[in-house]
Amino acid sequence: MERYNAACNAVSPVAFSERQFSNIGLQKRLYRHVRETFGLSAQMTLLAIRKVAGSYRSTREAIKEQNKVLAVLGKPLKTLTEISFREHGAICYDARVLSIGRNRVSIWTLDGRINLRYSKPAYFPAVATVTQTDLVYRDGAFWLYATVEIPDVEPADPSEYLGVDLGVVTIATTSDGATFSSDATEKVRQRYGRLRGILQKTGTRSAKRRLQKIAGRERRFKTDTNHIISKQIVCAAEGTKRGIALEDLKGILLRTTVRHDQRERHHKWAFHQLRSFIEYKARRTGVRVQVIDGAYTSQQCSACGFVHPDNRSSQAAFCCLACGHTENADINAARNIAARAAVNRPIAVCSPDTGGEVESQACKEHGATYGIMPPTEVGGS
Ligand SMILES: [Zn+2]
Repeated sequence: MERYNAACNAVSPVAFSERQFSNIGLQKRLYRHVRETFGLSAQMTLLAIRKVAGSYRSTREAIKEQNKVLAVLGKPLKTLTEISFREHGAICYDARVLSIGRNRVSIWTLDGRINLRYSKPAYFPAVATVTQTDLVYRDGAFWLYATVEIPDVEPADPSEYLGVDLGVVTIATTSDGATFSSDATEKVRQRYGRLRGILQKTGTRSAKRRLQKIAGRERRFKTDTNHIISKQIVCAAEGTKRGIALEDLKGILLRTTVRHDQRERHHKWAFHQLRSFIEYKARRTGVRVQVIDGAYTSQQCSACGFVHPDNRSSQAAFCCLACGHTENADINAARNIAARAAVNRPIAVCSPDTGGEVESQACKEHGATYGIMPPTEVGGS
């Protein structure tokens, strides 16, 4: 593992400086050199080179996606920087190099091939093709992370949607009124945060090792929480034959990029992950996910459609200035999200060019004109 990552670190600067991120191109350029310098097998040499090329390609794609949003927000764009690999970073095997038998796995080592017994967890899907296996060193033990391909279930065409509002204090709220708070993950974050502070002050080598360990534990706890929440949301939609409605990334970012402290960063990370978990679990069970324009979902009344910033009397409470409808603010937003997905209609915004399609009404207090959307029915919730 150490030799493999050392090889990756030798390949990376060349790949970066020559902008050579294709497997074939990088192999042509460096195969012989890496093989001779690091004494890896032919296949392991190729895997090291491919890990570097793959890391650059996926990082470049991720930056491209982030920059789309940053451009909308008028913020400085990110650029690709040289990637370095950790001493005990994962070895990424493809199906040809690492073969997984029913209860044994064969792995190449510097001292030849070894055959190891392994146990498959109960949740491992029966109808799955293993496409890639990563050998990971974690807390003093070796683990195999198998990436599996599961056939998608053709999504049904639902007439109703379960709206999900993703937030900061409350991680997720559904249009059925279910809420998932961030209390538990926040407590863990704070506990580890204090410990982190102490260890950082200590600064010894063993303190650094412990820091890495707790970072991993904290991350896995949050990931586990997101798995539980996303599973419950997908089950709720599947059980009632509804689709799931989520707001687009832009709406979430516009609401949450105000502060940049640790807490904010953690939550942003958490709901990006939660989103992707909801999406893939939904794909697996044939639940359609509809992404809607999230503009004004928090300012709009889910009963009469009136949009106004003052409809939000506090962070938690929604009170419609037009019809007097009151509701928990997150649930109100989730209902709007559900309704927008069901009709997929364009959204009225408070600008003069909403034209004849939407009625508009002058706001008495601000003098501005806000659009009124027709009343929406959020069926069954
Ligand atoms: Zn209203």
